[in-house]
Amino acid sequence: MQTLFHTLGLKSEIMKAIEALGFEEPSPIQKQAIPALMSGADIVAQAPTGTGKTAAFAIPIMELIDPAKRVVQALVLAPTRELAVQVAEASHSIGRNCRVNVLPVYGGQAYEHQLRGLRAGAHLVVGTPGRVMDHIRRGTLQLDTVRIVVLDEADEMLDMGFIDDIQLILDQTPKGRQMALFSATIPPRIQTLARRYMNNPQTISLAHEAKEVPLTHQVYYETQPRGKRDALTNILDMQEPHSAIIFCRTRSEAADLASTLQARGYGADAIHGDMSQAQRERVLGKFRANKVSLLVATDVAARGLDIPDVTHVINYDIPDDADAYVHRIGRTGRMGRKGEAITLVTPRELRLLRLIEKDIHKKLKPLQLPTQEDVAARRTKAFMESLRETLRAGAGQPYGLVAAELAEEFSAMQIAAGAIQLAFEATGGPVLPTGPVSDGRITQADTTRLVLDAGRRRGVRPGDIVKSIAGDAGIPGSDIGNIDVQAEATFIDVRNSVASKILELAAVVTLRDGDANLSLARQKSTDSPTGQQPKPKSAGKPRPRDNERGRPARFAGPKGKR
Ligand code: AMP
Repeated sequence: MQTLFHTLGLKSEIMKAIEALGFEEPSPIQKQAIPALMSGADIVAQAPTGTGKTAAFAIPIMELIDPAKRVVQALVLAPTRELAVQVAEASHSIGRNCRVNVLPVYGGQAYEHQLRGLRAGAHLVVGTPGRVMDHIRRGTLQLDTVRIVVLDEADEMLDMGFIDDIQLILDQTPKGRQMALFSATIPPRIQTLARRYMNNPQTISLAHEAKEVPLTHQVYYETQPRGKRDALTNILDMQEPHSAIIFCRTRSEAADLASTLQARGYGADAIHGDMSQAQRERVLGKFRANKVSLLVATDVAARGLDIPDVTHVINYDIPDDADAYVHRIGRTGRMGRKGEAITLVTPRELRLLRLIEKDIHKKLKPLQLPTQEDVAARRTKAFMESLRETLRAGAGQPYGLVAAELAEEFSAMQIAAGAIQLAFEATGGPVLPTGPVSDGRITQADTTRLVLDAGRRRGVRPGDIVKSIAGDAGIPGSDIGNIDVQAEATFIDVRNSVASKILELAAVVTLRDGDANLSLARQKSTDSPTGQQPKPKSAGKPRPRDNERGRPARFAGPKGKR
């Protein structure tokens, strides 16, 4: 598909990588920063996380680096180890076909590993200022061959007191090198730094025009990146939207999310730029006819189509500017109808949310994510309401005869409770916390974590995994829980009772490019940016998850009409 990326004059290796990442078009920051950096200009970009800032500098860096020269040609400084690893990983993905070596260097990791990387000829070093300074002092990192320096999240680095290290590092770089500074805010201290070290920098920021916002009810939920899918399904269970568009950033995310939703029993389909117009129209036809109630879309795919008014717009990924936000939520609440606009925001994206709010002159209402208990309570209430209606209308006579026969053995209360239990079980209805009733969903304690030795890089998609495992092991898809696709590995939670059967019958998963192997994962935490077997983030401080707190977690199971 021709995209706006084609107009940027990028190498085919990079275009291929962008294609594989599922980016459909450059974000507003990228549209400005990539040409500026490729023209050799210095830039100061006001761009918080969520705007696509990493690719905005990583793409020009990959264009600039000459892989034949095995010296450090680009340096990115980032405030935290977490961000350095994230930036290194994103840069690696963009430069995957360019034979460029990317090396993250940060405190807390053994020097030996980093020294090996430096000796092997790292082209791009992404580091925290302290550790970069250490390497310079030890003589293990020379910066005289650097052609471009990027300060990422510059305001945070200054807030963390890195100014001296940053200045010392910049002093080690050659005079004519290019420099880019990315920062969520541009306080005077940043301007001073820019004046001192940059050559007539261009300023880049998101457009600030007042935007018309429709009369839609607008809320946001803060969620951790890894909790987003559960957050979304809880919201869907609470709101049961008649018709919703769920927006994702990339086409791969849209396709993955639609498969996950399908695997969890929701009526969902994806539209994205990888599909032909005819395919998209087909999906849209189903959505219009309300055969599926959830349409998972990218901005680009949604833009070209005449999508009917919907009851809910859900920003699964926050849009990258106010323009995109207004465009998305304009799909709901049209013609005076009531619409709901829901945005999921990770803690790192809160600054972008604040920028969007400023542009639309409106504050989004923060809401607490619904818990499984909230979902169960809502469903119980709905069930009671329809039972009341049935009772008021008078239950059919044959049912009365059944009740009368049972009344010879049990009390009225016992009969009613038993009948409600059966009804709940049959419909995958609410789990009542105190009762022995189970709706068949898995709690965290019920699951065994398996690991597949292939992930995003090999095109793994949750829907394919469910199909393959469920098919080979002959188990229902509802025995498979969370699927977490990382770069090089995929973690799959399965019901304890079927784990050994899966390992016996479905241990080899056939992917498009060959086989991958399934085995028992060593531990449950998967928050690893490198896709390796992860370590828990903070020892002794488990991430609070609903189902780890002993709440009954709902699990995949077909629902009523969706
Ligand atoms: P960042 O602001 O760099 O933290 O990026 C936020 C997210 O947007 C990351 O998950 C990127 O992979 C993704 N992203 C970056 N550029 C694009 C693009 N042009 N289209 C879609 N997603 C993007």
